[in-house]
Amino acid sequence: MVVSKYRIQGASDDWEVVIGLEVHAQVTSNAKLFSGASTEFGAEPNTQVSLVDAAMPGMLPVLNGECVRQAVRTGMAIEARINAWSRFDRKNYFYADLPQGYQISQLYHPIVGEGAIEIETEEGSKTVGVERIHLEQDAGKLMHDQHPNFSYVDLNRSGVALMEIVSKPDMRSPDEAGAYVRKLRAILRYVGSCDGNMEQGSMRADVNVSVRRPGDSLGTRCEIKNVNSVRFIQQAIEYEARRQVDLIEEGGAVVQETRLFDPDKGETRSLRSKEDAHDYRYFPDPDLLPVELSTAFLDECRHSLPELPDAKRLRYVEQLGLSAYNASVLTAEAETARWFEALLAESALKQQKPETQVAKAAANWLISDLFGALNRLGKTIEQSPVSPAHGAELLALVANGTLSGTLAKQVFEIMIESGEDPASIVAARGLQQTSDTGAIEAAIADVMTSNPDKVAEYRSGKDKLFGFFVGQVMRAMAGKANPQVVNELLKKALG
Ligand code: ADP
Ligand code: MG
Repeated sequence: MVVSKYRIQGASDDWEVVIGLEVHAQVTSNAKLFSGASTEFGAEPNTQVSLVDAAMPGMLPVLNGECVRQAVRTGMAIEARINAWSRFDRKNYFYADLPQGYQISQLYHPIVGEGAIEIETEEGSKTVGVERIHLEQDAGKLMHDQHPNFSYVDLNRSGVALMEIVSKPDMRSPDEAGAYVRKLRAILRYVGSCDGNMEQGSMRADVNVSVRRPGDSLGTRCEIKNVNSVRFIQQAIEYEARRQVDLIEEGGAVVQETRLFDPDKGETRSLRSKEDAHDYRYFPDPDLLPVELSTAFLDECRHSLPELPDAKRLRYVEQLGLSAYNASVLTAEAETARWFEALLAESALKQQKPETQVAKAAANWLISDLFGALNRLGKTIEQSPVSPAHGAELLALVANGTLSGTLAKQVFEIMIESGEDPASIVAARGLQQTSDTGAIEAAIADVMTSNPDKVAEYRSGKDKLFGFFVGQVMRAMAGKANPQVVNELLKKALG
């Protein structure tokens, strides 16, 4: 395969962009990392704040075991080293949304060590290294009001558990960064450790970008903070790479700094010079014991993992005989795979056939018909008005010859609108296909009498007219004739 290198827009060819991502993923858990306060999204400001989250003097953090479990399961899902011994550190800084004056995080001994994520891009597949995953607290949120000029603090997010998933600087294009974030999000959703909802801020990325001449050692990076969509991540990289190349080509140098992405302008701008770890005066949190994981706990975590996207995709190809493309579409999101597997099980049951024999038709129908309809309606598969059971019933009606492909599409349209089951729709509207030879022969006779010239042309060798006759007969039968029977009887009648 020819790997075409990503070219920084407007730059001469001999520059390479280097990208590393720090993804903050909110851990799926009802309670916060060190307190029992609720983590539910969208609550009134400051209604989900325990004394621990408000940093009242003397309050002690208590580690939430579920958050530890989710971080470990996530680590296992990317085949990372799990550290049976880890520890929490205080990262000290002052900000109005951080009442403790420090964030509890893990610098020296993170719970998860090195792992890897496989990504697929147009250029092929590639492994992106993961440096570490650590647990840390989220901060509160500041809300600014111009009239009058006040700032408010909402501590609902204060203390919510985050996993920080730090990649190695292994990505070389906006495309690869996008593929990495999408794949990571899919894995988190399969595992159930984060809902991956970027709009609600459950997943956001710090994007580290540098440029270099290929073969040189790593260039100085800038870190673009808190980017919250795949598209913005890609735009930020494009802009930032170009900015750095321009700077260097004009004889300047990139300064290591923290920047912000402005989605309206499509630009990044300087926020502050980058602080180093020593600026935060990290030290082990004296209020928390080291985390020690037992073998039994680790075993439980491993056994609780579902089949993951890569394994599922391979199985769909090897066991079910699906195309690589269909398999990757169906496994890209956990919800799609779940829906497909329910459809498959119901189809096998209804048609009394092994899943391997009904899989292709089910996959094609889901990807073209169902996805097509959902796209038109702007709905996700979880909001589908058609259930897997009804989908399977429709496929069974096609398989047993009750419905032709054309009729099945008509029935499906009605299913989408009404949510009714296909058998009732067929019965109520008489939509079933007919193989009644008497009726079909009568229609053929009519068509031939009304088109004597076409019959003559066909008989003198214009074979292409056969399609015309099929069309006319189907029209006369209101689309309900079994196309195979129509073909056979027409051939006989036309001689
Ligand atoms: P910090 O926590 O101070 O931001 P880290 O050393 O943990 O620093 O690195 C954070 C991220 O920056 C990682 O994802 C890493 O891959 C990425 N990174 C490090 N050096 C570079 C570089 N020269 N260019 C692009 N990304 C880089
Ligand atoms: Mg960072």
